Amino acid sequence: MKNIYFIGECMVELRAMSAATLHQSFAGDVYNSAVYLKRCFPQVTTSVVTALGQDNLSKKMLERFEGEQINTQLVFAHDSKVPGVYYIETDEYGERSFIYWRNDSAAKKVVDFLDADALEQLCQGDMFFFSGISLAIIEESAREHFWKVVTQLKDAGVKIVFDPNYRARLWNSIEETKEQYHLAFTLADITLPGVEDLTTLYNVHSVEAVVEYLEPYKIEEIVVKNGPESVVTKQADTLQSHTIIPVTNVVDTTSAGDAFNGVYLGARLSDKSISSAVQLAAKAAGAVIQQPGAIAPKDIFQLAMVEAGI
Ligand code: ADP
Repeated sequence: MKNIYFIGECMVELRAMSAATLHQSFAGDVYNSAVYLKRCFPQVTTSVVTALGQDNLSKKMLERFEGEQINTQLVFAHDSKVPGVYYIETDEYGERSFIYWRNDSAAKKVVDFLDADALEQLCQGDMFFFSGISLAIIEESAREHFWKVVTQLKDAGVKIVFDPNYRARLWNSIEETKEQYHLAFTLADITLPGVEDLTTLYNVHSVEAVVEYLEPYKIEEIVVKNGPESVVTKQADTLQSHTIIPVTNVVDTTSAGDAFNGVYLGARLSDKSISSAVQLAAKAAGAVIQQPGAIAPKDIFQLAMVEAGI
């Protein structure tokens, strides 16, 4: 059975439904990817590696992970911290705005829990995924240990997967981000950047420019996302462009890239070719953006994926 670990943060989501009503759910890039992967490829063991607290919301979050059949063996409970929270509201023009309370979240401590036992378990994985958001939330003092863990996993034959998912507000400076991303690209076997993320950081404005920028890193598999534009992949010397059918009824693009990542990696772990993995991933992302919120209702999502031939 194939096995993938997603390290990072899942938050409590509070969505304003009306002036007096908030809808509470859970979301976060690596969690979103894990959910969509598992929904499409139940045979792949899918684990989230994070830290929560001992509070009731943490317990509910853990139950939600389990409800999505996500393995929680490496979900740790911090003795004094609690999960991060974000509030989202959409104005009358459909513009979304967010407020975050995540600077002191339990997830920032996740690397402290990566002891020899955890490492032994992670070494059994086929893939280890982290994003630019995972990197940003890890405390500076824990970075050295984090990179040591990633290096050990790579040496053990685990494929290292990185999505830059750049969020400027989570970083102190662009220089700091670039330094961390350089380490990530150096160790990555697979990377799934979006053009927009890299534009701010490296002044690259097209899928071709992204591929060229990554050339010196010798990454085995590069998958460049660009909204509704074609996805471009590069494996060894094979460059392929994959046409995406644009969705006309876009409701909320939150987690398009996360759904894409999860389904793409699930497909690759299930021995699908790069082009069929991209098609399935694009179908999943297309379904997700027609629903509000990060996690689409299971039945609607499942139906779209059955239509996609999964
Ligand atoms: P990210 O969230 O990483 O910035 P993108 O916005 O590039 O990701 O989108 C990720 C994927 O979602 C795209 O590669 C595509 O498959 C799908 N997608 C995004 N926007 C659309 C759209 N308008 N129509 C159809 N598919 C879309």
